[in-house]
Amino acid sequence: MASLLEIRNLTKSFGALVAVNDLSFSVAGGEILGIAGPNGSGKSTLFNLISRIPFGANRGEVEFEGRRIDGLPDHRIAQLGIIRTFQREAVFQSMSCVDNILVAIEQTTGARGKEAERLADEACDLVDFPKNFHNLPAATLPVFYQKQLMLTTAVAQNPKLLLLDEPASSLVENEIDWVRQTVSRLNANGITIMLIEHVLPLLMSVSTRLLVMEQGNIIALGDPRKVTRDPAVVEAYLGQPA
Ligand code: ADP
Ligand code: MG
Repeated sequence: MASLLEIRNLTKSFGALVAVNDLSFSVAGGEILGIAGPNGSGKSTLFNLISRIPFGANRGEVEFEGRRIDGLPDHRIAQLGIIRTFQREAVFQSMSCVDNILVAIEQTTGARGKEAERLADEACDLVDFPKNFHNLPAATLPVFYQKQLMLTTAVAQNPKLLLLDEPASSLVENEIDWVRQTVSRLNANGITIMLIEHVLPLLMSVSTRLLVMEQGNIIALGDPRKVTRDPAVVEAYLGQPA
């Protein structure tokens, strides 16, 4: 598989704290790269630096489809096909569900009217977002459906690379199954995925490779079964308060 994303020496500090420390790795087109690590290890910051939402790196390079993107504004990066979701449900609460999706489509792809509606419909089908929710204000949805809406909004923007930040957090077992199935379906539809998760069985079942971070560094990267047996990884997890 050819490399879709190349990260070189990516670094971000907040004062004395180095949240992402000189990271270098690549993501192949078509893969699902799982990302694990204790709280505060720099996982979400890594997504910030790639998408530049809400900020870029202090140092280092990000190359997507062979071109440097680390100097581009966030909306250009989205237009090139890198779309992220957030750890917390991030939808426009007062807008209807369908308007949430349509606004994102217009912003990133420029599509409006019937074409935008077609893209929204396709995304709802891919993510299983119930169409009878379309006209409800997003704020009235339970957390699970807000997460579904956030993912539908991301998928509707036609990503090549989808950055998912803990999509299963605070979900129960059958909802986590939905995450598993949806991630696999999106990937089968040609979307490359980077998936941050704490739910290890989910990561193990969908990831082609697993990257583990601790204190801003990569401590392991490779075959998920090998990585989870790596002593450094076991220690990072056992060292974490329950
Ligand atoms: P993770 O997603 O792995 O839990 P984060 O990337 O959110 O970790 O955070 C990594 C470290 O950077 C943490 O110590 C966190 O407190 C710090 N951090 C993250 N964002 C900011 C910010 N905007 N300002 C200051 N410190 C931050
Ligand atoms: Mg995080």
